[in-house]
Amino acid sequence: MNDPFPMKGDTLAGSPSRASGHAASGPDGDSSWRRELAEAIRDPAELLRVLDLPMELLPAAERAAAAFPLLAPRGFVARMRRGDVRDPLLRQVLPLGEETLPMAGFSADPLAETACGPRPGVLHKYHGRALLVTTGACAVHCRYCFRRHFAYQDLPRGRQWWKEAVDYMQADSSLHEVLLSGGDPLTLPDTQLAALAQDLSAIPHLERLRVHTRLPVVLPSRVDDHLLAWLTGTRLAPVVVIHANHPSEIAEDVALACRRLRDAGVTVLNQAVLLAGINDDADVLVELSERLFRAGVLPYYLHALDRVAGAGHFLVDDQRARDLHATVAARLPGYLVPRLVREEPGQAGKTPLR
Ligand code: SF4
Repeated sequence: MNDPFPMKGDTLAGSPSRASGHAASGPDGDSSWRRELAEAIRDPAELLRVLDLPMELLPAAERAAAAFPLLAPRGFVARMRRGDVRDPLLRQVLPLGEETLPMAGFSADPLAETACGPRPGVLHKYHGRALLVTTGACAVHCRYCFRRHFAYQDLPRGRQWWKEAVDYMQADSSLHEVLLSGGDPLTLPDTQLAALAQDLSAIPHLERLRVHTRLPVVLPSRVDDHLLAWLTGTRLAPVVVIHANHPSEIAEDVALACRRLRDAGVTVLNQAVLLAGINDDADVLVELSERLFRAGVLPYYLHALDRVAGAGHFLVDDQRARDLHATVAARLPGYLVPRLVREEPGQAGKTPLR
């Protein structure tokens, strides 16, 4: 097994509120993406100031951020309209007072994930694939995140966790695909990810390595030579599932990053979440698919909101979701229409909303 822990301070799990954005030292530690991550906006007052927004929003933003901190890279903030509190990118990251109001049917663990891990940090929900919660850190804190209350701090860290997770994959020959998730796995150093990819590729029944990440969208400089080297450097077929919800997220540098991935032989897919006030509009969804395709990305899923406490104000009801999806499907070729799904605990796969 490779030694993925050559440096003190590199972890494979941690709270998003405490671990996000802290650059580690090491061979890839001075990359520009790490500096950008370290310089991301964490203070609600600064976000309001930078965007010329009214300071009356600050008390509620600070209250909501106390439970789930603000985190937004400056490049992502630069795509927002100044002075517009309804900007669709801003609404994804700005803590709001609504988050602190209890809402019936919304809970801390809407997907019952704490109950479905065979080992700490390993989720095995579906046949043929299993997911590693590699870290609690993200490059952005999405206010609707279904893991916003996930107990990352309870996950084991370090060498022993790593070995047990790889051993689990090794022991189950029905597994053909491993998903790296989090948090966001691409906040980890490439040295660790390269070592993990090598260890996983030594397991004969694994065929695909899938990475779920928002980094190419919110911090496109993350797609660099170090990343491409380990991602495409094993026998495992690489798949990257990015996460963009609105066409304004697909800026030119994001499109370039996605094309780099695709040109290196990576299958690149997008999953979005249907969010009230952000993308619950057929024109917006059509434009998102068009821009993704221009960037070499295929739309994969449009998720109904997971009912996580603090995100109720993003809910789009099922009938409206179906109507929107039908309109999108009538305007686009089938390969540009994401599947409208909901994740339900205990199901063998995502549940289509029909
Ligand atoms: S949606 Fe993804 S990137 Fe956003 S906070 Fe959740 S895990 Fe992090």
